[in-house]
Amino acid sequence: MSFPGRVRRLALAFAAIAFGATSIPANADPLAKDLFGAHRLPAATNAESFGFYSKGCFSGGVAIATDGPTWQAMRLSRNRRWGHPELIATLERLSREASRDGWPGLLIGDISQPRGGPMLTGHASHQIGLDADIWLTPMPNRTLTASERENIGATSMIKKDSLHVDDRLWTPAHAAVLKRAASYGNVERILVHPGIKKKLCDTVKGDRSWLRKVRPYWGHDAHFHLRIGCPSGSAGCKGQEGTPRGDGCDSSLAWWFTEEPWRPAKGPAKPRSRDIMTMASLPAACRVVLNAPEPVSEAAVTFGGGRTTIAASGAVPVTANAFAATPETAIPLPQPRPFD
Ligand SMILES: [Zn+2]
Repeated sequence: MSFPGRVRRLALAFAAIAFGATSIPANADPLAKDLFGAHRLPAATNAESFGFYSKGCFSGGVAIATDGPTWQAMRLSRNRRWGHPELIATLERLSREASRDGWPGLLIGDISQPRGGPMLTGHASHQIGLDADIWLTPMPNRTLTASERENIGATSMIKKDSLHVDDRLWTPAHAAVLKRAASYGNVERILVHPGIKKKLCDTVKGDRSWLRKVRPYWGHDAHFHLRIGCPSGSAGCKGQEGTPRGDGCDSSLAWWFTEEPWRPAKGPAKPRSRDIMTMASLPAACRVVLNAPEPVSEAAVTFGGGRTTIAASGAVPVTANAFAATPETAIPLPQPRPFD
């Protein structure tokens, strides 16, 4: 080997040590969750969702304020209070209208990262700013401290070692907040534990059409998951298939009360998609989103707190029913137990 060649090799070896490149090959693509997880602020461009709920990103995100007249955001350290403006407006509206129905206010869990994308932990979906988790624990009549918001747990509505709602915890107000959310034209799905769906099936009188949007799913015993459809102006957003006709209080629900959905998966555990996803798996627009400039501050893109409400600010377009109906499907097929 020539002298210059040796120097070059040595230099490369030092570079590898300096960058801590021990086990990862030098040419490995970075994980999308690391790139998106590193952003503290949204992409300051037009509000647009790209890709699918579990494979995408979004620009023009806004944060819901940590505190509003009828909500409090939880787990503030996660910085997941971000969403498409239409979702944030929907949450603000739900908190306000549900409080008139007797639900004292929303405790808001994870929405999205500032620019969406796969998360470092948790959720497979919540990537395009159109999903939000809302606790089934009513908001207390006082402002929670930052530490309480990190540490208090949501209360499971399901009786221990059962698939059924604990009747000591379930109230008409729980049904009311779900009904209110389902009544919005842009809300396409609400995910709840199968026991909660069953409780609604067994008890809701009169108009039952809204039950169609309330879907049984793993988890979701202490919170519900609200999903809106692709907003107008998001041509790159991929909608989800529509929910089947009817109230869903049928064989598709009965399946959840068999052994099958709860059987542990066979074979070695597969890696979660968020743990292997690179930018190559996401829509090309997500590279632009990743590199877009930030807004001047978090406050500049935070809505709904204090004196101002989203509806009054005029800065957020609220368009219900702004997306086409999606096709019908049959009952959901059993799948490996996914994260929401
Ligand atoms: Zn969720």
